[in-house]
Amino acid sequence: MDYFRDSIQEKCGVFGIYSDYSEIDVVSQTYLALYALQHRGQESCGIAVCDDGLVRYHNDLGLVPDVFSRETLEKLGRGNIAVGHVRYSTMDQKSRANALPLVVRHFKGTMAIAHNGSLTNAAHLREELEQEGAVFHTSNDTEIITNIITKKRIHTQSIEEAVEQAMYEIRGAYSIVLMSPSKLIAVRDSDGFRPLCMGALNGGFVFASESCALDSIGADFIRDVEPGEIVVVDKEGQRSIKTHCGKPGGLCVFEYIYFARPDSVIDGAGVHTARQRAGAFLALEHPVQADVVFGVPDSGLDAALGYSRQSGIPYGVGFIKNRYIGRTFIQPTQEERDNAVRIKLNTIESTIRDKRVVLIDDSIVRGTTMRRIVKLVRETGAKEVHLRISSPPFVNPCYFGTDIDSRDYLIACRMTIPEIREYLGADSLGYLSVDHVTKIAENAKCGFCDGCFTGRYPVPEPEILPKSKYDQKIGEFKF
Ligand code: SF4
Repeated sequence: MDYFRDSIQEKCGVFGIYSDYSEIDVVSQTYLALYALQHRGQESCGIAVCDDGLVRYHNDLGLVPDVFSRETLEKLGRGNIAVGHVRYSTMDQKSRANALPLVVRHFKGTMAIAHNGSLTNAAHLREELEQEGAVFHTSNDTEIITNIITKKRIHTQSIEEAVEQAMYEIRGAYSIVLMSPSKLIAVRDSDGFRPLCMGALNGGFVFASESCALDSIGADFIRDVEPGEIVVVDKEGQRSIKTHCGKPGGLCVFEYIYFARPDSVIDGAGVHTARQRAGAFLALEHPVQADVVFGVPDSGLDAALGYSRQSGIPYGVGFIKNRYIGRTFIQPTQEERDNAVRIKLNTIESTIRDKRVVLIDDSIVRGTTMRRIVKLVRETGAKEVHLRISSPPFVNPCYFGTDIDSRDYLIACRMTIPEIREYLGADSLGYLSVDHVTKIAENAKCGFCDGCFTGRYPVPEPEILPKSKYDQKIGEFKF
């Protein structure tokens, strides 16, 4: 649990690169791109590289700079295809075994796979595979996908044909980059829950969860991979398979609200602009008389700017965030938790003292951290604290690659909005409406999933959650 954050967390970021030009160091480019995707997962990361059919890889628990030293990158060496991954574990257990990319040697070759999302039929598929004799080394969905693709590959002419057939069996959210000895393949599920884009770099091709990763290595954005599309890159160039395309699309709207970096453009809509629009809609829906508006860093900042511009209330900087607190921060005791929030966020008194403030954040999950933040603002001398949230209340779990798998955590399932306001200690509380949340990403080329707000998911909810049973199995291993 993150004691400084009370928001839904994303699972992973993926990256892949193909280049026939030996002057491009695909390992270094992957390393740099993973840095840009670090916000999508901080628990583990990895890189696999293909050098004339030989695959070398390294993955481990930790941030990109912790896992990869210069020496490690040199050991990975050169090659012409690479895939990379950053991970935040959700359904499955945090362990080194679950770090990706997953590299397997199968009947017809080698495959390295990086995956973002969660399958809704994972438990069922795993049970079936185990009954057929499959052995699993991890508790993640990626190994299930890998097993299905390698099984199909026995009877297909190509790896892309095996992927195409596997897509009839796997359901739910998956954006994948996978590497065979001669091909790089990018795949997005037919609803497009998680983003995936494509770029060009010096005659080669790259794929990434977000366009900010392309920018970080100087690649040119080409387009988003379509929901349901398989893009294959090899020495012949790039081509598409679109047999699974055609659904209206169900991109996770929370990518715009919180998950993605503000400098990314997803499915045609800029994240920074979408967050400002959310703030502007909030100002229209929940106006208030106030002296200053400011956001909780980082994802509340853009929405605060939008609220300020729409309402005419001056924008201010109310918090400074300490960016140097890592995962090694010692877990605070119950008594220390109020102060622990101060370690991460400190207030700027000149913005707050004797003012009526509008405080903006992207979401409230449990409410515990938000309560401490409101208390902190009051202790700094605010006359009134009006809380505005740039998403609707979370009232349903998410099954598509985030960490909210139960209604038990959700404050909006236990309390009414007036009760939440009272619990948080705010003078007023306003959430963005469901009507407006899907309008924040103007010009987006696809439909959205807003299931955690509405209960309307693009695909049926899973019957069994693919969780603790397999965590127990992997927990039996000694590391
Ligand atoms: S349920 Fe919510 S968090 Fe999950 S994919 Fe849909 S919009 Fe995103």
